[in-house]
Amino acid sequence: MIDSYKHKGLRKKLVEEVNKKGIEDKNILSAIEKIPRHFFLDSSFESFAYEDKPFPIGSGQTISQPYTVAYQTYLLDVKPREKILEIGTGSGYQACVLIELGARVYSIERHRTLYQKAKKQLRSMGYSPNLFYGDGYKGLPAYSPFDKILITAAAPELPPELFKQLKIGGVIVIPVGGSENQTMKRIIKTDDNNFEEESFGYFRFVPLLSDKE
Ligand code: SAH
Repeated sequence: MIDSYKHKGLRKKLVEEVNKKGIEDKNILSAIEKIPRHFFLDSSFESFAYEDKPFPIGSGQTISQPYTVAYQTYLLDVKPREKILEIGTGSGYQACVLIELGARVYSIERHRTLYQKAKKQLRSMGYSPNLFYGDGYKGLPAYSPFDKILITAAAPELPPELFKQLKIGGVIVIPVGGSENQTMKRIIKTDDNNFEEESFGYFRFVPLLSDKE
């Protein structure tokens, strides 16, 4: 696939749209401007890549809407060198955004086909996050603790294993709720048993499911 001037122009427009919706962080906007989102979709759907919408990526899953990616990234407040765990690699697009912000990314996907596809795609684009095929509910104890954790699927509640794998003072961004819609939450771990929680409006994600496929 190529990244043409037309694609770059469409990306500029997408950045303007995301900016108008309230995202002002320059680093996040430049990551969106830089990453060819059409590389993550099937070539026949290329023209949809720069609409601010989610899109099917196979196995019944979706690549998140660019605004949602930007908003979750904004809430996470990524700093260079931070160690971040993402649950739900999906296409790998969000992982690339985190890498562009200088994070060290670990990401888990429960669908083997998506995991394999993302691995290949990211490698071909020169990104090298640590990708894992597994159950995100369990996290990655061997690589913990993490500075931050980003959950990109709808969770009925905060998974306790993930809370354990977060540093004290660390942040989890997670859409909490049922299948209709979820409340975006930012959780700050104040000590091993306590956290502070803030809520940030409604979103709609595919569900976080237990175990692997
Ligand atoms: N971040 C992705 C979009 C994620 S959609 C992107 O940038 O494209 C949510 C993803 O979470 C789906 O790919 C789904 O398969 C995955 N998922 C659902 N339950 C999971 C679990 N328990 N562990 C890991 N991944 C899970």
